[in-house]
Amino acid sequence: MPTDKTEKTTEKKKSAAEAKPEPVKKAKAPAEPKTEPAKKAKAGAEKKPKAVKVKKPEAAPDAAAEAPVEAAVPPVETVPAKVEPAETAPVETAPVEADPVPDTPRRSVAFIGSECYPFVKTGGLGDVMYALPKALVKHNCDVKVILPRYRCIPWEYQQKMVYRGAFGMDLCADGRSYYVGIMEYVWDGVVYDFIDNEEFFSSGNPYTNLVDDIPKYCYFAKAALAALNYMDWIPDIIHCHDWQAALVPVYLRTLFENTKLSRARAILTIHNLKFQGVYNIPTIKYWSGLPDYVFNKDALTVNWVDANMLKGGLTYSNAITTVSPTYAWEIQTPAYGENLDAHLRYHAGKLRGIVNGIDYDIWNPLTDKNVPHNYSAADVLKQKKANKRALQEELGLQVDEGKLVIGLISRLTDQKGLDLVNAIMSQIVDDYTQVVILGTGDAMYEDSFRYYENAYKGTVCSCILYDEARSHRIYAGADALLVPSRFEPCGLTQLNAMRYGTVPIVRETGGLKDTVEPYNMFTNTGNGFTFDRYDAGLLLDAINRAKTLYFENRWCWDEMVQRDMEKDVSWDSSAAQYKELYLQLT
Ligand code: ADP
Repeated sequence: MPTDKTEKTTEKKKSAAEAKPEPVKKAKAPAEPKTEPAKKAKAGAEKKPKAVKVKKPEAAPDAAAEAPVEAAVPPVETVPAKVEPAETAPVETAPVEADPVPDTPRRSVAFIGSECYPFVKTGGLGDVMYALPKALVKHNCDVKVILPRYRCIPWEYQQKMVYRGAFGMDLCADGRSYYVGIMEYVWDGVVYDFIDNEEFFSSGNPYTNLVDDIPKYCYFAKAALAALNYMDWIPDIIHCHDWQAALVPVYLRTLFENTKLSRARAILTIHNLKFQGVYNIPTIKYWSGLPDYVFNKDALTVNWVDANMLKGGLTYSNAITTVSPTYAWEIQTPAYGENLDAHLRYHAGKLRGIVNGIDYDIWNPLTDKNVPHNYSAADVLKQKKANKRALQEELGLQVDEGKLVIGLISRLTDQKGLDLVNAIMSQIVDDYTQVVILGTGDAMYEDSFRYYENAYKGTVCSCILYDEARSHRIYAGADALLVPSRFEPCGLTQLNAMRYGTVPIVRETGGLKDTVEPYNMFTNTGNGFTFDRYDAGLLLDAINRAKTLYFENRWCWDEMVQRDMEKDVSWDSSAAQYKELYLQLT
């Protein structure tokens, strides 16, 4: 999942940031109503400073030996403990839950992450941050999602947010104070609290480059905890996602160790190990204000000179999860470990994989407004043909429901195995097979797919754009979907495809291996076609097996389509596993 698309730019820009980091100006105070409560908040803090005042932090067990006694600890004492009453602006009320609450003890969970559908989404992380809290509510959890209040969040949501309060927070090593505003929005039983600070969150995209993103997410991690303290909402579990929230467990066990929050257990979920938030030690030390002892080789330090925010979070969290059991195993090997395999093997005792699901309210071919002909497993065979014709018309392909239409919906990056597709494109297309591509990303792949569209007019269509509605129409109108990833922590496109009766053709890696059972021609079982080694010839072989079944044994193909639609790829069983983990930890 594209949790940060900027890591590659780091090297070039490093030198600029290496110079003594310039502290950002104090964040601009928000419009009218915010300033007054902010003052009150400060007054509250003077009366009750003990709420989040930090005394002497304790090192994590494995870092203790290196902890200097007088670690520089910027106090967070300006954060009051009292909850400011929310203003009376209209809040979207949570609908009454129809599902019965399962008979497990109630747990409160704070989700902390950098993106969440529908406010801001760049990839699968956004989907998970939306769907998992919603599913956990049905499993007797009280969930608060803490997000940055980016300027790019659509106005329709911004205007419904309610001001919850504001306070000042010390951040950098020199103790500079920053504004932290809290804006709240309640939806589908989940409370969303947005951390507001124009200085950090006013750029157009959530992720820009590491020079800006490192300070931004140091601020966010600390502000998220300070906001929980401020609202006096002490959860049982603090569930953090990817490197942008990875400093949360580190803050929790150091600067927040003597606050009420420290009773919470911290979980860190890795959605994509490729992105880790690595930068030189002085910069991260300055911006985070974390004590020196966390910059040791067992926690944040890597390669002697850099600090790795994800690695620090892994050390200090009580449990680590990733988004499929196979990926949990793969990342402990040098081939997939992105230089953290040894660290992950060391922490393997607290690491487990829980596969993602998809939201059945959004991904439902029977009610999907983007799909021209809605359908269920009962009438998929007829309606898919109608959707295929509509798709072919929309994309300017030759309209013929008898052709096999293969879709590919993906970020166009190396991770997704597109070099394999490029290598065999001329062997995939034939008089009976069409290919539809939807994606954006690296120019090299965008250009090569544009070339194929031109070379195979009427047979190949390359939509080089991000279009949510069109993706739904491709899932509904295509017969098969390609996901030949080099690595895939979980992958959502194969789940969407199965839900829409589109047969996945995948490489056996990560979540693809865990969710797509290979077709077995002898028992007529399975959900799709798979190949193991990263090899274009093996991908072509899998596609040819799919073609053979489609054209020569349609009855078995049709059964697989129906089987895929009936397969449970919802969040329900995954949410139950997360709930079980929460119960184990508390
Ligand atoms: P990743 O998070 O690595 O990009 P996932 O498979 O986990 O990959 O999630 C990708 C999600 O983004 C899926 O829901 C997919 O449908 C959607 N998606 C990817 N590219 C596009 C696009 N160009 N237009 C619309 N949706 C897209």
